[in-house]
Amino acid sequence: MIKVGITGGIGSGKSTVCKVFRVLGVPVFEADSIAKQLMNTDLLLQKKLIDLFGPSVYQQDQTIDRKYLAGIVFNNPSLLGQLNEIVHPAVRKAFDEWCLTQQAPYVIHEAAILFESGFYKMMDKTITVVTDTEERVDRVVKRDHSTAELVIQRMKNQWSDKERIKLADFVIGNNDQELIIPQIVEIDKKIRAHG
Ligand code: ADP
Repeated sequence: MIKVGITGGIGSGKSTVCKVFRVLGVPVFEADSIAKQLMNTDLLLQKKLIDLFGPSVYQQDQTIDRKYLAGIVFNNPSLLGQLNEIVHPAVRKAFDEWCLTQQAPYVIHEAAILFESGFYKMMDKTITVVTDTEERVDRVVKRDHSTAELVIQRMKNQWSDKERIKLADFVIGNNDQELIIPQIVEIDKKIRAHG
């Protein structure tokens, strides 16, 4: 089965693009939301998180305290790296198991840090969604009721479009005046034809 990774900076429109692929019948593995779920369900992962960050990383109802965790790793690249090192193997295992249950010519792995994490090496093809920074900030401020400062801070933990484009097989432009559906249909055709 062909594995296609989709990435793009925060607010670029990855999830929106994946919705269209779903309509075309392509199964989508949302790595970021699966990672969050696994933190609440995977016992080995939970133990590792507690060993690294202390018991306060879990709330009384045993769910991860994402605000607390984000506060710890926010400005600490070393701890963010350690967090990723713990979480990524669990996500990888979940993805491999999920792939075995899918029946489609190809599947999509959607992740904000597909390239940064090295996950792209497991993919046959990669797609990056590109949108101007100002547009992305505006969209995320609206979507998450966040502030421009916080969004820009999160962007700093991600690669630039330039770096992503260099490694991607396909680029989807998602600025205001660009239509994503024709771009997606074209890519879908190419993947189905050539793998
Ligand atoms: P990502 O998954 O990359 O963070 P989303 O797909 O959630 O980005 O898109 C960010 C926000 O922008 C969402 O609220 C989405 O509905 C909106 N959005 C995405 N693409 C467009 C577009 N072409 N025009 C206007 N709004 C868009």
